[in-house]
Amino acid sequence: MLLFMSTLIGAEASAQGSTSPALAAAAHFGPSNPFYAPSALPFQAPPFDKIKDEDYQPAIEAGMAQQQAEIQTIANNADAPTLENTIVAMEKSGRLVNRVMAAFDGVTGAHTNPTLQNIKTIEAPKLAAHEDFIYLNTKLFARIAVIYKQRTSLKLDPESLRLVEQYYDKFVHAGANLSEADKTELKKLNEEAASLSNAFTNKLLAATKEGAYVTTDKAALAGLSEARIAAAAQSAKSRQLEGFVIPLQNTTQQPDLVSLSGRATRQATFERSWNRTERGDANDTRDTIARLAQLRAQKAKLLGYPSFAAWKLEDQMAKTPEAALQFMDAIVPAATAKAAREAKDIQAVIDAQQGGFQLQPWDWNFYAEQVRKARYDLDDAQLKAYFEIDNVLQNGVFYAANQLYGLNFKERHDLPVYHPDVRVFEFFDANGKRLALFYCDYFKRDNKKGGAWMSEFVGQSRLLGTLPVVYNVANLSKSAEGEPALISFTDVIAMFHEFGHALHGMFSDAEYPTLAGTSTARDFVEFPSQFNEHWAIYPSIFTHYAKHYKTGAPVPEKLAARIREAETFNKGYDMTELLAAAELDMQWHSLTPNTPLPKPDEFEKQALENAHLNLSYVPPRYRSTYFSHIWGSDGYSAGYYAYLWTQMLADDGYQWFVENGGLTRANGDRFRQMVLSRGNTEDLAKMYKSWRGAPPNTKAMLKYRGLEDPPPAK
Ligand SMILES: [Zn+2]
Repeated sequence: MLLFMSTLIGAEASAQGSTSPALAAAAHFGPSNPFYAPSALPFQAPPFDKIKDEDYQPAIEAGMAQQQAEIQTIANNADAPTLENTIVAMEKSGRLVNRVMAAFDGVTGAHTNPTLQNIKTIEAPKLAAHEDFIYLNTKLFARIAVIYKQRTSLKLDPESLRLVEQYYDKFVHAGANLSEADKTELKKLNEEAASLSNAFTNKLLAATKEGAYVTTDKAALAGLSEARIAAAAQSAKSRQLEGFVIPLQNTTQQPDLVSLSGRATRQATFERSWNRTERGDANDTRDTIARLAQLRAQKAKLLGYPSFAAWKLEDQMAKTPEAALQFMDAIVPAATAKAAREAKDIQAVIDAQQGGFQLQPWDWNFYAEQVRKARYDLDDAQLKAYFEIDNVLQNGVFYAANQLYGLNFKERHDLPVYHPDVRVFEFFDANGKRLALFYCDYFKRDNKKGGAWMSEFVGQSRLLGTLPVVYNVANLSKSAEGEPALISFTDVIAMFHEFGHALHGMFSDAEYPTLAGTSTARDFVEFPSQFNEHWAIYPSIFTHYAKHYKTGAPVPEKLAARIREAETFNKGYDMTELLAAAELDMQWHSLTPNTPLPKPDEFEKQALENAHLNLSYVPPRYRSTYFSHIWGSDGYSAGYYAYLWTQMLADDGYQWFVENGGLTRANGDRFRQMVLSRGNTEDLAKMYKSWRGAPPNTKAMLKYRGLEDPPPAK
């Protein structure tokens, strides 16, 4: 899933105010710095061959100083405020700092090192302070408020009107209407929160690395394929360790738990994951998240809201925490009932094998896989032979975009990358017009954040004359040297997912950078990505890429049919673990400001009980203490429900295609024109309804996820 990296409207100013520190550091900045001028490469792609670690900090500092000056000029303009001299001028400001931060965020996310982490630690509070510098700037806000009041008489085009409203709302949301004393207090809270988030991220990265399962006993790895064992040996070698290392993924469940036949190894692996940030060592995050939750509640109070969630959801499609909770509560019974049926099936297998134990979370995937094989006769290892990564990418993911939207692509070997695993593709419209650059970086590294995400090196904007340069990052397991990378069908889906985000970025056709591409509400941004997942299993797409890596033979039709049937398998578990994480998030952020510092373990237990999601065998997808979506940044705080909300949009949206003839260029083009190219240029609920013809509902979601099944007769 996407870890959405927030793009700042403006950029960075020094915490100390408008004068010297930033300018002093900026003195080291000159034409020899690769960020000094816009990149001369095609699409202004980052010149990674020239960028050195030491180039980032002076460029960030100079960018801060530069934008400070730009913002001051706008705020102090003696002319009456106009769209052009205020809001459009802001849209044009901060080019340098945006340029360097896009590359910096990309590299620190996917290929970091202690030097870069250190720069990030130093700059994080300054970035937060700068956001405040813009959004709490009284003079600037006064100008925006004037334009906002005049907006209906200004005869603005719809996108410009939307821009004015978004700016005004964002300033008010950030506290522009507060007294000077409250603004000072808010700045303090924001700075502490940013430092805590950064501390959380660093601890989690270290804890995840530390949490790897390490053994010198090959027998403990029984059940893993020879290729996986070789990869585990390789991981050990790269860490200068004896034996075997299975690195942790960021989720609670770990991929190898599906194959590891030794129950003790499964339990140990699971527990290393579950307790990774609760060991009482330097990487324990419990105090960090408790304080962060408290801080956020205090911030909400200052801004006049009952909770952080209430403040956070105001500008979302759902609008209130109550609406989001109601939506989730309504799915809980169907999801947990399906999970309970799945658990029963699994326990039956355990009992039939004389296991003599009750199903535990570390057993789930191992036995679920056996149920799946028995029911659908699907063998993950056998299936993987049909999903060679490059074939999936070019003949599946890209092919679907060709069939729906007429896109063509060409790999480019001439553009510099930050790591040899990164590949670059140029995309063209059906008429041959160049559209965007797409970078992909799919394989796991220890210096890469967990999960998968999409972001941009360059955002599209007609105002700035820029075309999109977008990227996808994932953590797929690399095969041993010289072997083709075969991936699971889950990974195939993940590739379609991230590319759905990429399309949202690449199709962007907005005037203003603030409204372009994926810069939408959190409970909308996962709609294009989850929608794109549907095409992975669409017959004419599936048969085009699912071919045996050795023989090129297509997946036999019987097997393909079973894969389609198996789509709803385990969906009770999947939905429940997501709901559990989403409930944890919403409850952490529903704390009232006067609540005493919570104890994370107790809080978590109680929160899951309250939501009827305390199933012993379905742990939350992320535990509170390693839930980086909500603590690593503000991005998904009080927003994790958005993954489920957008599942509703994705399934309901796909249903429109089903009702209108399925995969056709006409359907694709209409969707692109009315949704994918529109970014945040109009109200999102309205945009959806115009395209779909009705507001979204959960009907298709429950159907496609197999949750509408009646419980079996007793
Ligand atoms: Zn996503």
